[in-house]
Amino acid sequence: MPAKITEVVVKDIRFPTSLEAHGSDAMHTDPDYSCAYVIIHTDSNDALEGHGPTFTIGRGTEVVVAAVEAMTFHLIGQDVQAIFDDFGGFWRKFVADSQLRWLGPEKGVVHLATAAIMNALWDLWAKREKKPLWKLLVDMDPEKLVACVDFTYISDCITREEALAILKKNSDTKHERESFLKENGFPAYTTSVGWLGYSDERIQKKCQDALKDGWTMFKMKVGANLEDDIRRAKIIRQEIGYENALMMDCNQRWGVHEAIEWMKPLAEFKPKWIEEPTSPDDVLGHAAIAKALNPLGIGVATGEHCHNRVMFKQFLQSGAMQYCQIDSCRIGGVNEILGPANGQEMSSVCEYVDHLREHFVYPVEMKGPNYLPPTKPGYSTELKPGSIEDHLYPNGRVWEELRKEGKIKNSFGSFSFLCFNNFYKFCIFLFGLLFHFQLLSLGHLCITHSQTGL
Ligand SMILES: [Mg+2]
Repeated sequence: MPAKITEVVVKDIRFPTSLEAHGSDAMHTDPDYSCAYVIIHTDSNDALEGHGPTFTIGRGTEVVVAAVEAMTFHLIGQDVQAIFDDFGGFWRKFVADSQLRWLGPEKGVVHLATAAIMNALWDLWAKREKKPLWKLLVDMDPEKLVACVDFTYISDCITREEALAILKKNSDTKHERESFLKENGFPAYTTSVGWLGYSDERIQKKCQDALKDGWTMFKMKVGANLEDDIRRAKIIRQEIGYENALMMDCNQRWGVHEAIEWMKPLAEFKPKWIEEPTSPDDVLGHAAIAKALNPLGIGVATGEHCHNRVMFKQFLQSGAMQYCQIDSCRIGGVNEILGPANGQEMSSVCEYVDHLREHFVYPVEMKGPNYLPPTKPGYSTELKPGSIEDHLYPNGRVWEELRKEGKIKNSFGSFSFLCFNNFYKFCIFLFGLLFHFQLLSLGHLCITHSQTGL
């Protein structure tokens, strides 16, 4: 069915997770899990909408929203099927906008905005095909799948033809692997036991609960204080034993030498990996850390802040990452995942965080510690309309109530909003006054002109 994009709406949605220290780590001590949330509308009778987020942690989400708004002209009036028929070409044209690219290119706020838009397009495509996104990808001809990828800057590492050959080589076992996935799910590890802001008692309880639910892989945050890290690692190991896996994540807190020295005393707790041990852009620094920690049996994981495929190419080529953590809300959506995914054997475990799932129309379903593949059409990224309205920042119901209760302070951003909001209300008041006097003296026709003029 033909469909042209008529409107792109973007919303600033924030959840006050910082109130209970959910998501807290050594660098991000008070995150409010948030997103710039894009909704794509078309003129099709099917009334389908594409919903896509990019992930943020509170302040600054409004900047990503502004970036999305600056890019939407590329979408309005476009035929969606024409986009999907040459998705890689569309993606390239989009990220290579001759003026907007100056803000990146392909990194930072503009690329976060790109992610939200592309994810919304993928959601729309999957809904139009009446398939969950993973199934849309699985059923795609190798040629069509490869056509979704932009190989610019990575063809020295993997070419279109090589990617095609990998997909074709593995196509014989595709149905077998699909059946296995449906039956068993995709393995996951939990991070919900070890946020940095949690008390020792809470960590203990979280570990016990997770073990009861069948979890076998656990991640803890480290990096703020070494003595605390040792104590917390001891607690977790006492609870989960050494038969289960433990991973550590310092969220970019250390310098290269500091990372190596910090991890030496933590090696006795046998972490499988240290995640983001230093600046996410320091490829050679990661390589040095990986080399130093390898004899201790500790690998290096990174990718959450890798902003594009070029970075992944360098990390993989230099041996700087043993565990690849690619994120479709950081790089330019699903299209950009497909390139690095083709170029390496993917790690076989996915992070699980059990916060906020109640807000999704189709929340993830787990079978023990494994993700079950979604069954509903789309990307499963769609938030419930009520959750969207309640968490709109800064004037959604939840934020208004928290403000009234004195539980949150206004940041400069929200202060600006309040000034704007009050100014807006003042204008409405002024307009009302004007309306009143006009009504008394000049009659309805004049009022209509006055409204237009105002
Ligand atoms: Mg992390």
